Amino acid sequence: MITTYVAVTLIALILMSAYNVGILSENLYQEETMRLYAKANIISQSMTSAWNVADEREMIWRGQDVTGRILGGTNIRGVITDNSYTVLYDTNSDTDMVGKVFMRDVLKRALDGEQAQSEFEADTGKTLTVSVPIEVNDEIVGGVYLAENVSSTADTINAIKASLILFSVLLLFIIVIISIGTSYIITRPITHFISVAKAISKGDFSKRARVDGMREMAEMGQALNFMCDQLNQLEEKRKNFVSDVSHELKTPMAGIKLLCDSLVQAENPDMDTIREFLNDMSEEIDRLTRIINRLLTLSRLDAGQDLAMSDVDISALCNGVVESVRKLAAEKAIELQYIPPEMPTILVCADYDKIYECVYNIVVNAINYTPEYGHVEARVSFGDGKCIIAVEDDGPGIPDEEKQKIFERFYRLDDSRARDTGGTGLGLAITKEAVLLHNGTIEVTDSQTGGSIFTITLPVPELGKE
Ligand code: ADP
Repeated sequence: MITTYVAVTLIALILMSAYNVGILSENLYQEETMRLYAKANIISQSMTSAWNVADEREMIWRGQDVTGRILGGTNIRGVITDNSYTVLYDTNSDTDMVGKVFMRDVLKRALDGEQAQSEFEADTGKTLTVSVPIEVNDEIVGGVYLAENVSSTADTINAIKASLILFSVLLLFIIVIISIGTSYIITRPITHFISVAKAISKGDFSKRARVDGMREMAEMGQALNFMCDQLNQLEEKRKNFVSDVSHELKTPMAGIKLLCDSLVQAENPDMDTIREFLNDMSEEIDRLTRIINRLLTLSRLDAGQDLAMSDVDISALCNGVVESVRKLAAEKAIELQYIPPEMPTILVCADYDKIYECVYNIVVNAINYTPEYGHVEARVSFGDGKCIIAVEDDGPGIPDEEKQKIFERFYRLDDSRARDTGGTGLGLAITKEAVLLHNGTIEVTDSQTGGSIFTITLPVPELGKE
């Protein structure tokens, strides 16, 4: 992160500095060249008007006079030549060029009729040169050559370059400090989250992430803690479930073991006794099978097994369930009634077998937990876009504080009575799971007689909609 910041800043600074220094030096040199041109043109015009003076000494004097006025106080060298490159006047008297040939490329271009400029690096520094022709009656009679050492301008540009470099280094330093600070602020909570996540993945659910600092980080901490709570609860449920399963399986196994031992130890048991013992063992094995089958059903539901959906006529389904348990109800002299809906059919998109099992579970429960000569009623109706299946009994009812718990796995209100009825404590858990898979609801309320009403609602697809 720091490397990226620094690299981006460095590239930006280099590009910005190079561009600015380039523009600045170009402008400064261009301005200087323009000034030189202006001076050269004034000298050229003065010389044009003086050219007809026949006396060469007079010409030199004029040249000296005008260049002295224009170039006085500057470090510009001025040379005036005729059109055969012979020097008429040179401000640099040290070189004693008067009367000698002065060949320069810019001067040659001026004598060819253009205004020319050039620059070169000398030991003394950068030098700008310009040259303009002297014209008399449209004829080029000579040229003016000016050369200025611009090392002071170059010095200024170098000074600006130096300050830009210093500024860039300072800026870079500040950015490095800020990036280190920022990356520390950002990465510190992330490192903390990683350590918490690692601890959780190793099964240490006591670890909690800090919920402070930046909003996003605090939210991330909250999400991690929430996930940890959920995992913790799941782990608790898993442990309880495993111990419940072992307990539930142990009881019939212990019964079978006891029956076996008693049979083995009995001396010369008669056939009736053996049959009775085997019968009891068979009942325990049935119980074991029931538990295992229900566990398998639950685990399939948990795994979100695909539902075999089809249009199910709920009224026909409930009637089928009621008829299948009529014999069971008759054994306890329970009056079992089915009240169909007002409309002839209510079609629900559902997995027939799963919904059949749900209704079967609550109807069988109602019969099991209702005393002899009681009354059980199953009703199907339609309301609020939903199909409502209600099973009412006049049994002992379910206390308010237990109404939610009975849907938990292996939860029984009265353990011994539930076992007597052959209950596994898994029926309502399976029912709830299956109903939820159908986007339905299940609840239990009190009936007017003090018994219970189990109500399942299932969504009915609107006509014309899938
Ligand atoms: P079980 O196989 O033991 O019946 P369920 O999951 O079907 O298990 O029911 C859980 C517990 O809920 C039962 O043990 C019983 O105590 C209670 N229960 C279920 N239905 C009724 C009912 N109609 N009346 C009273 N109690 C009921």
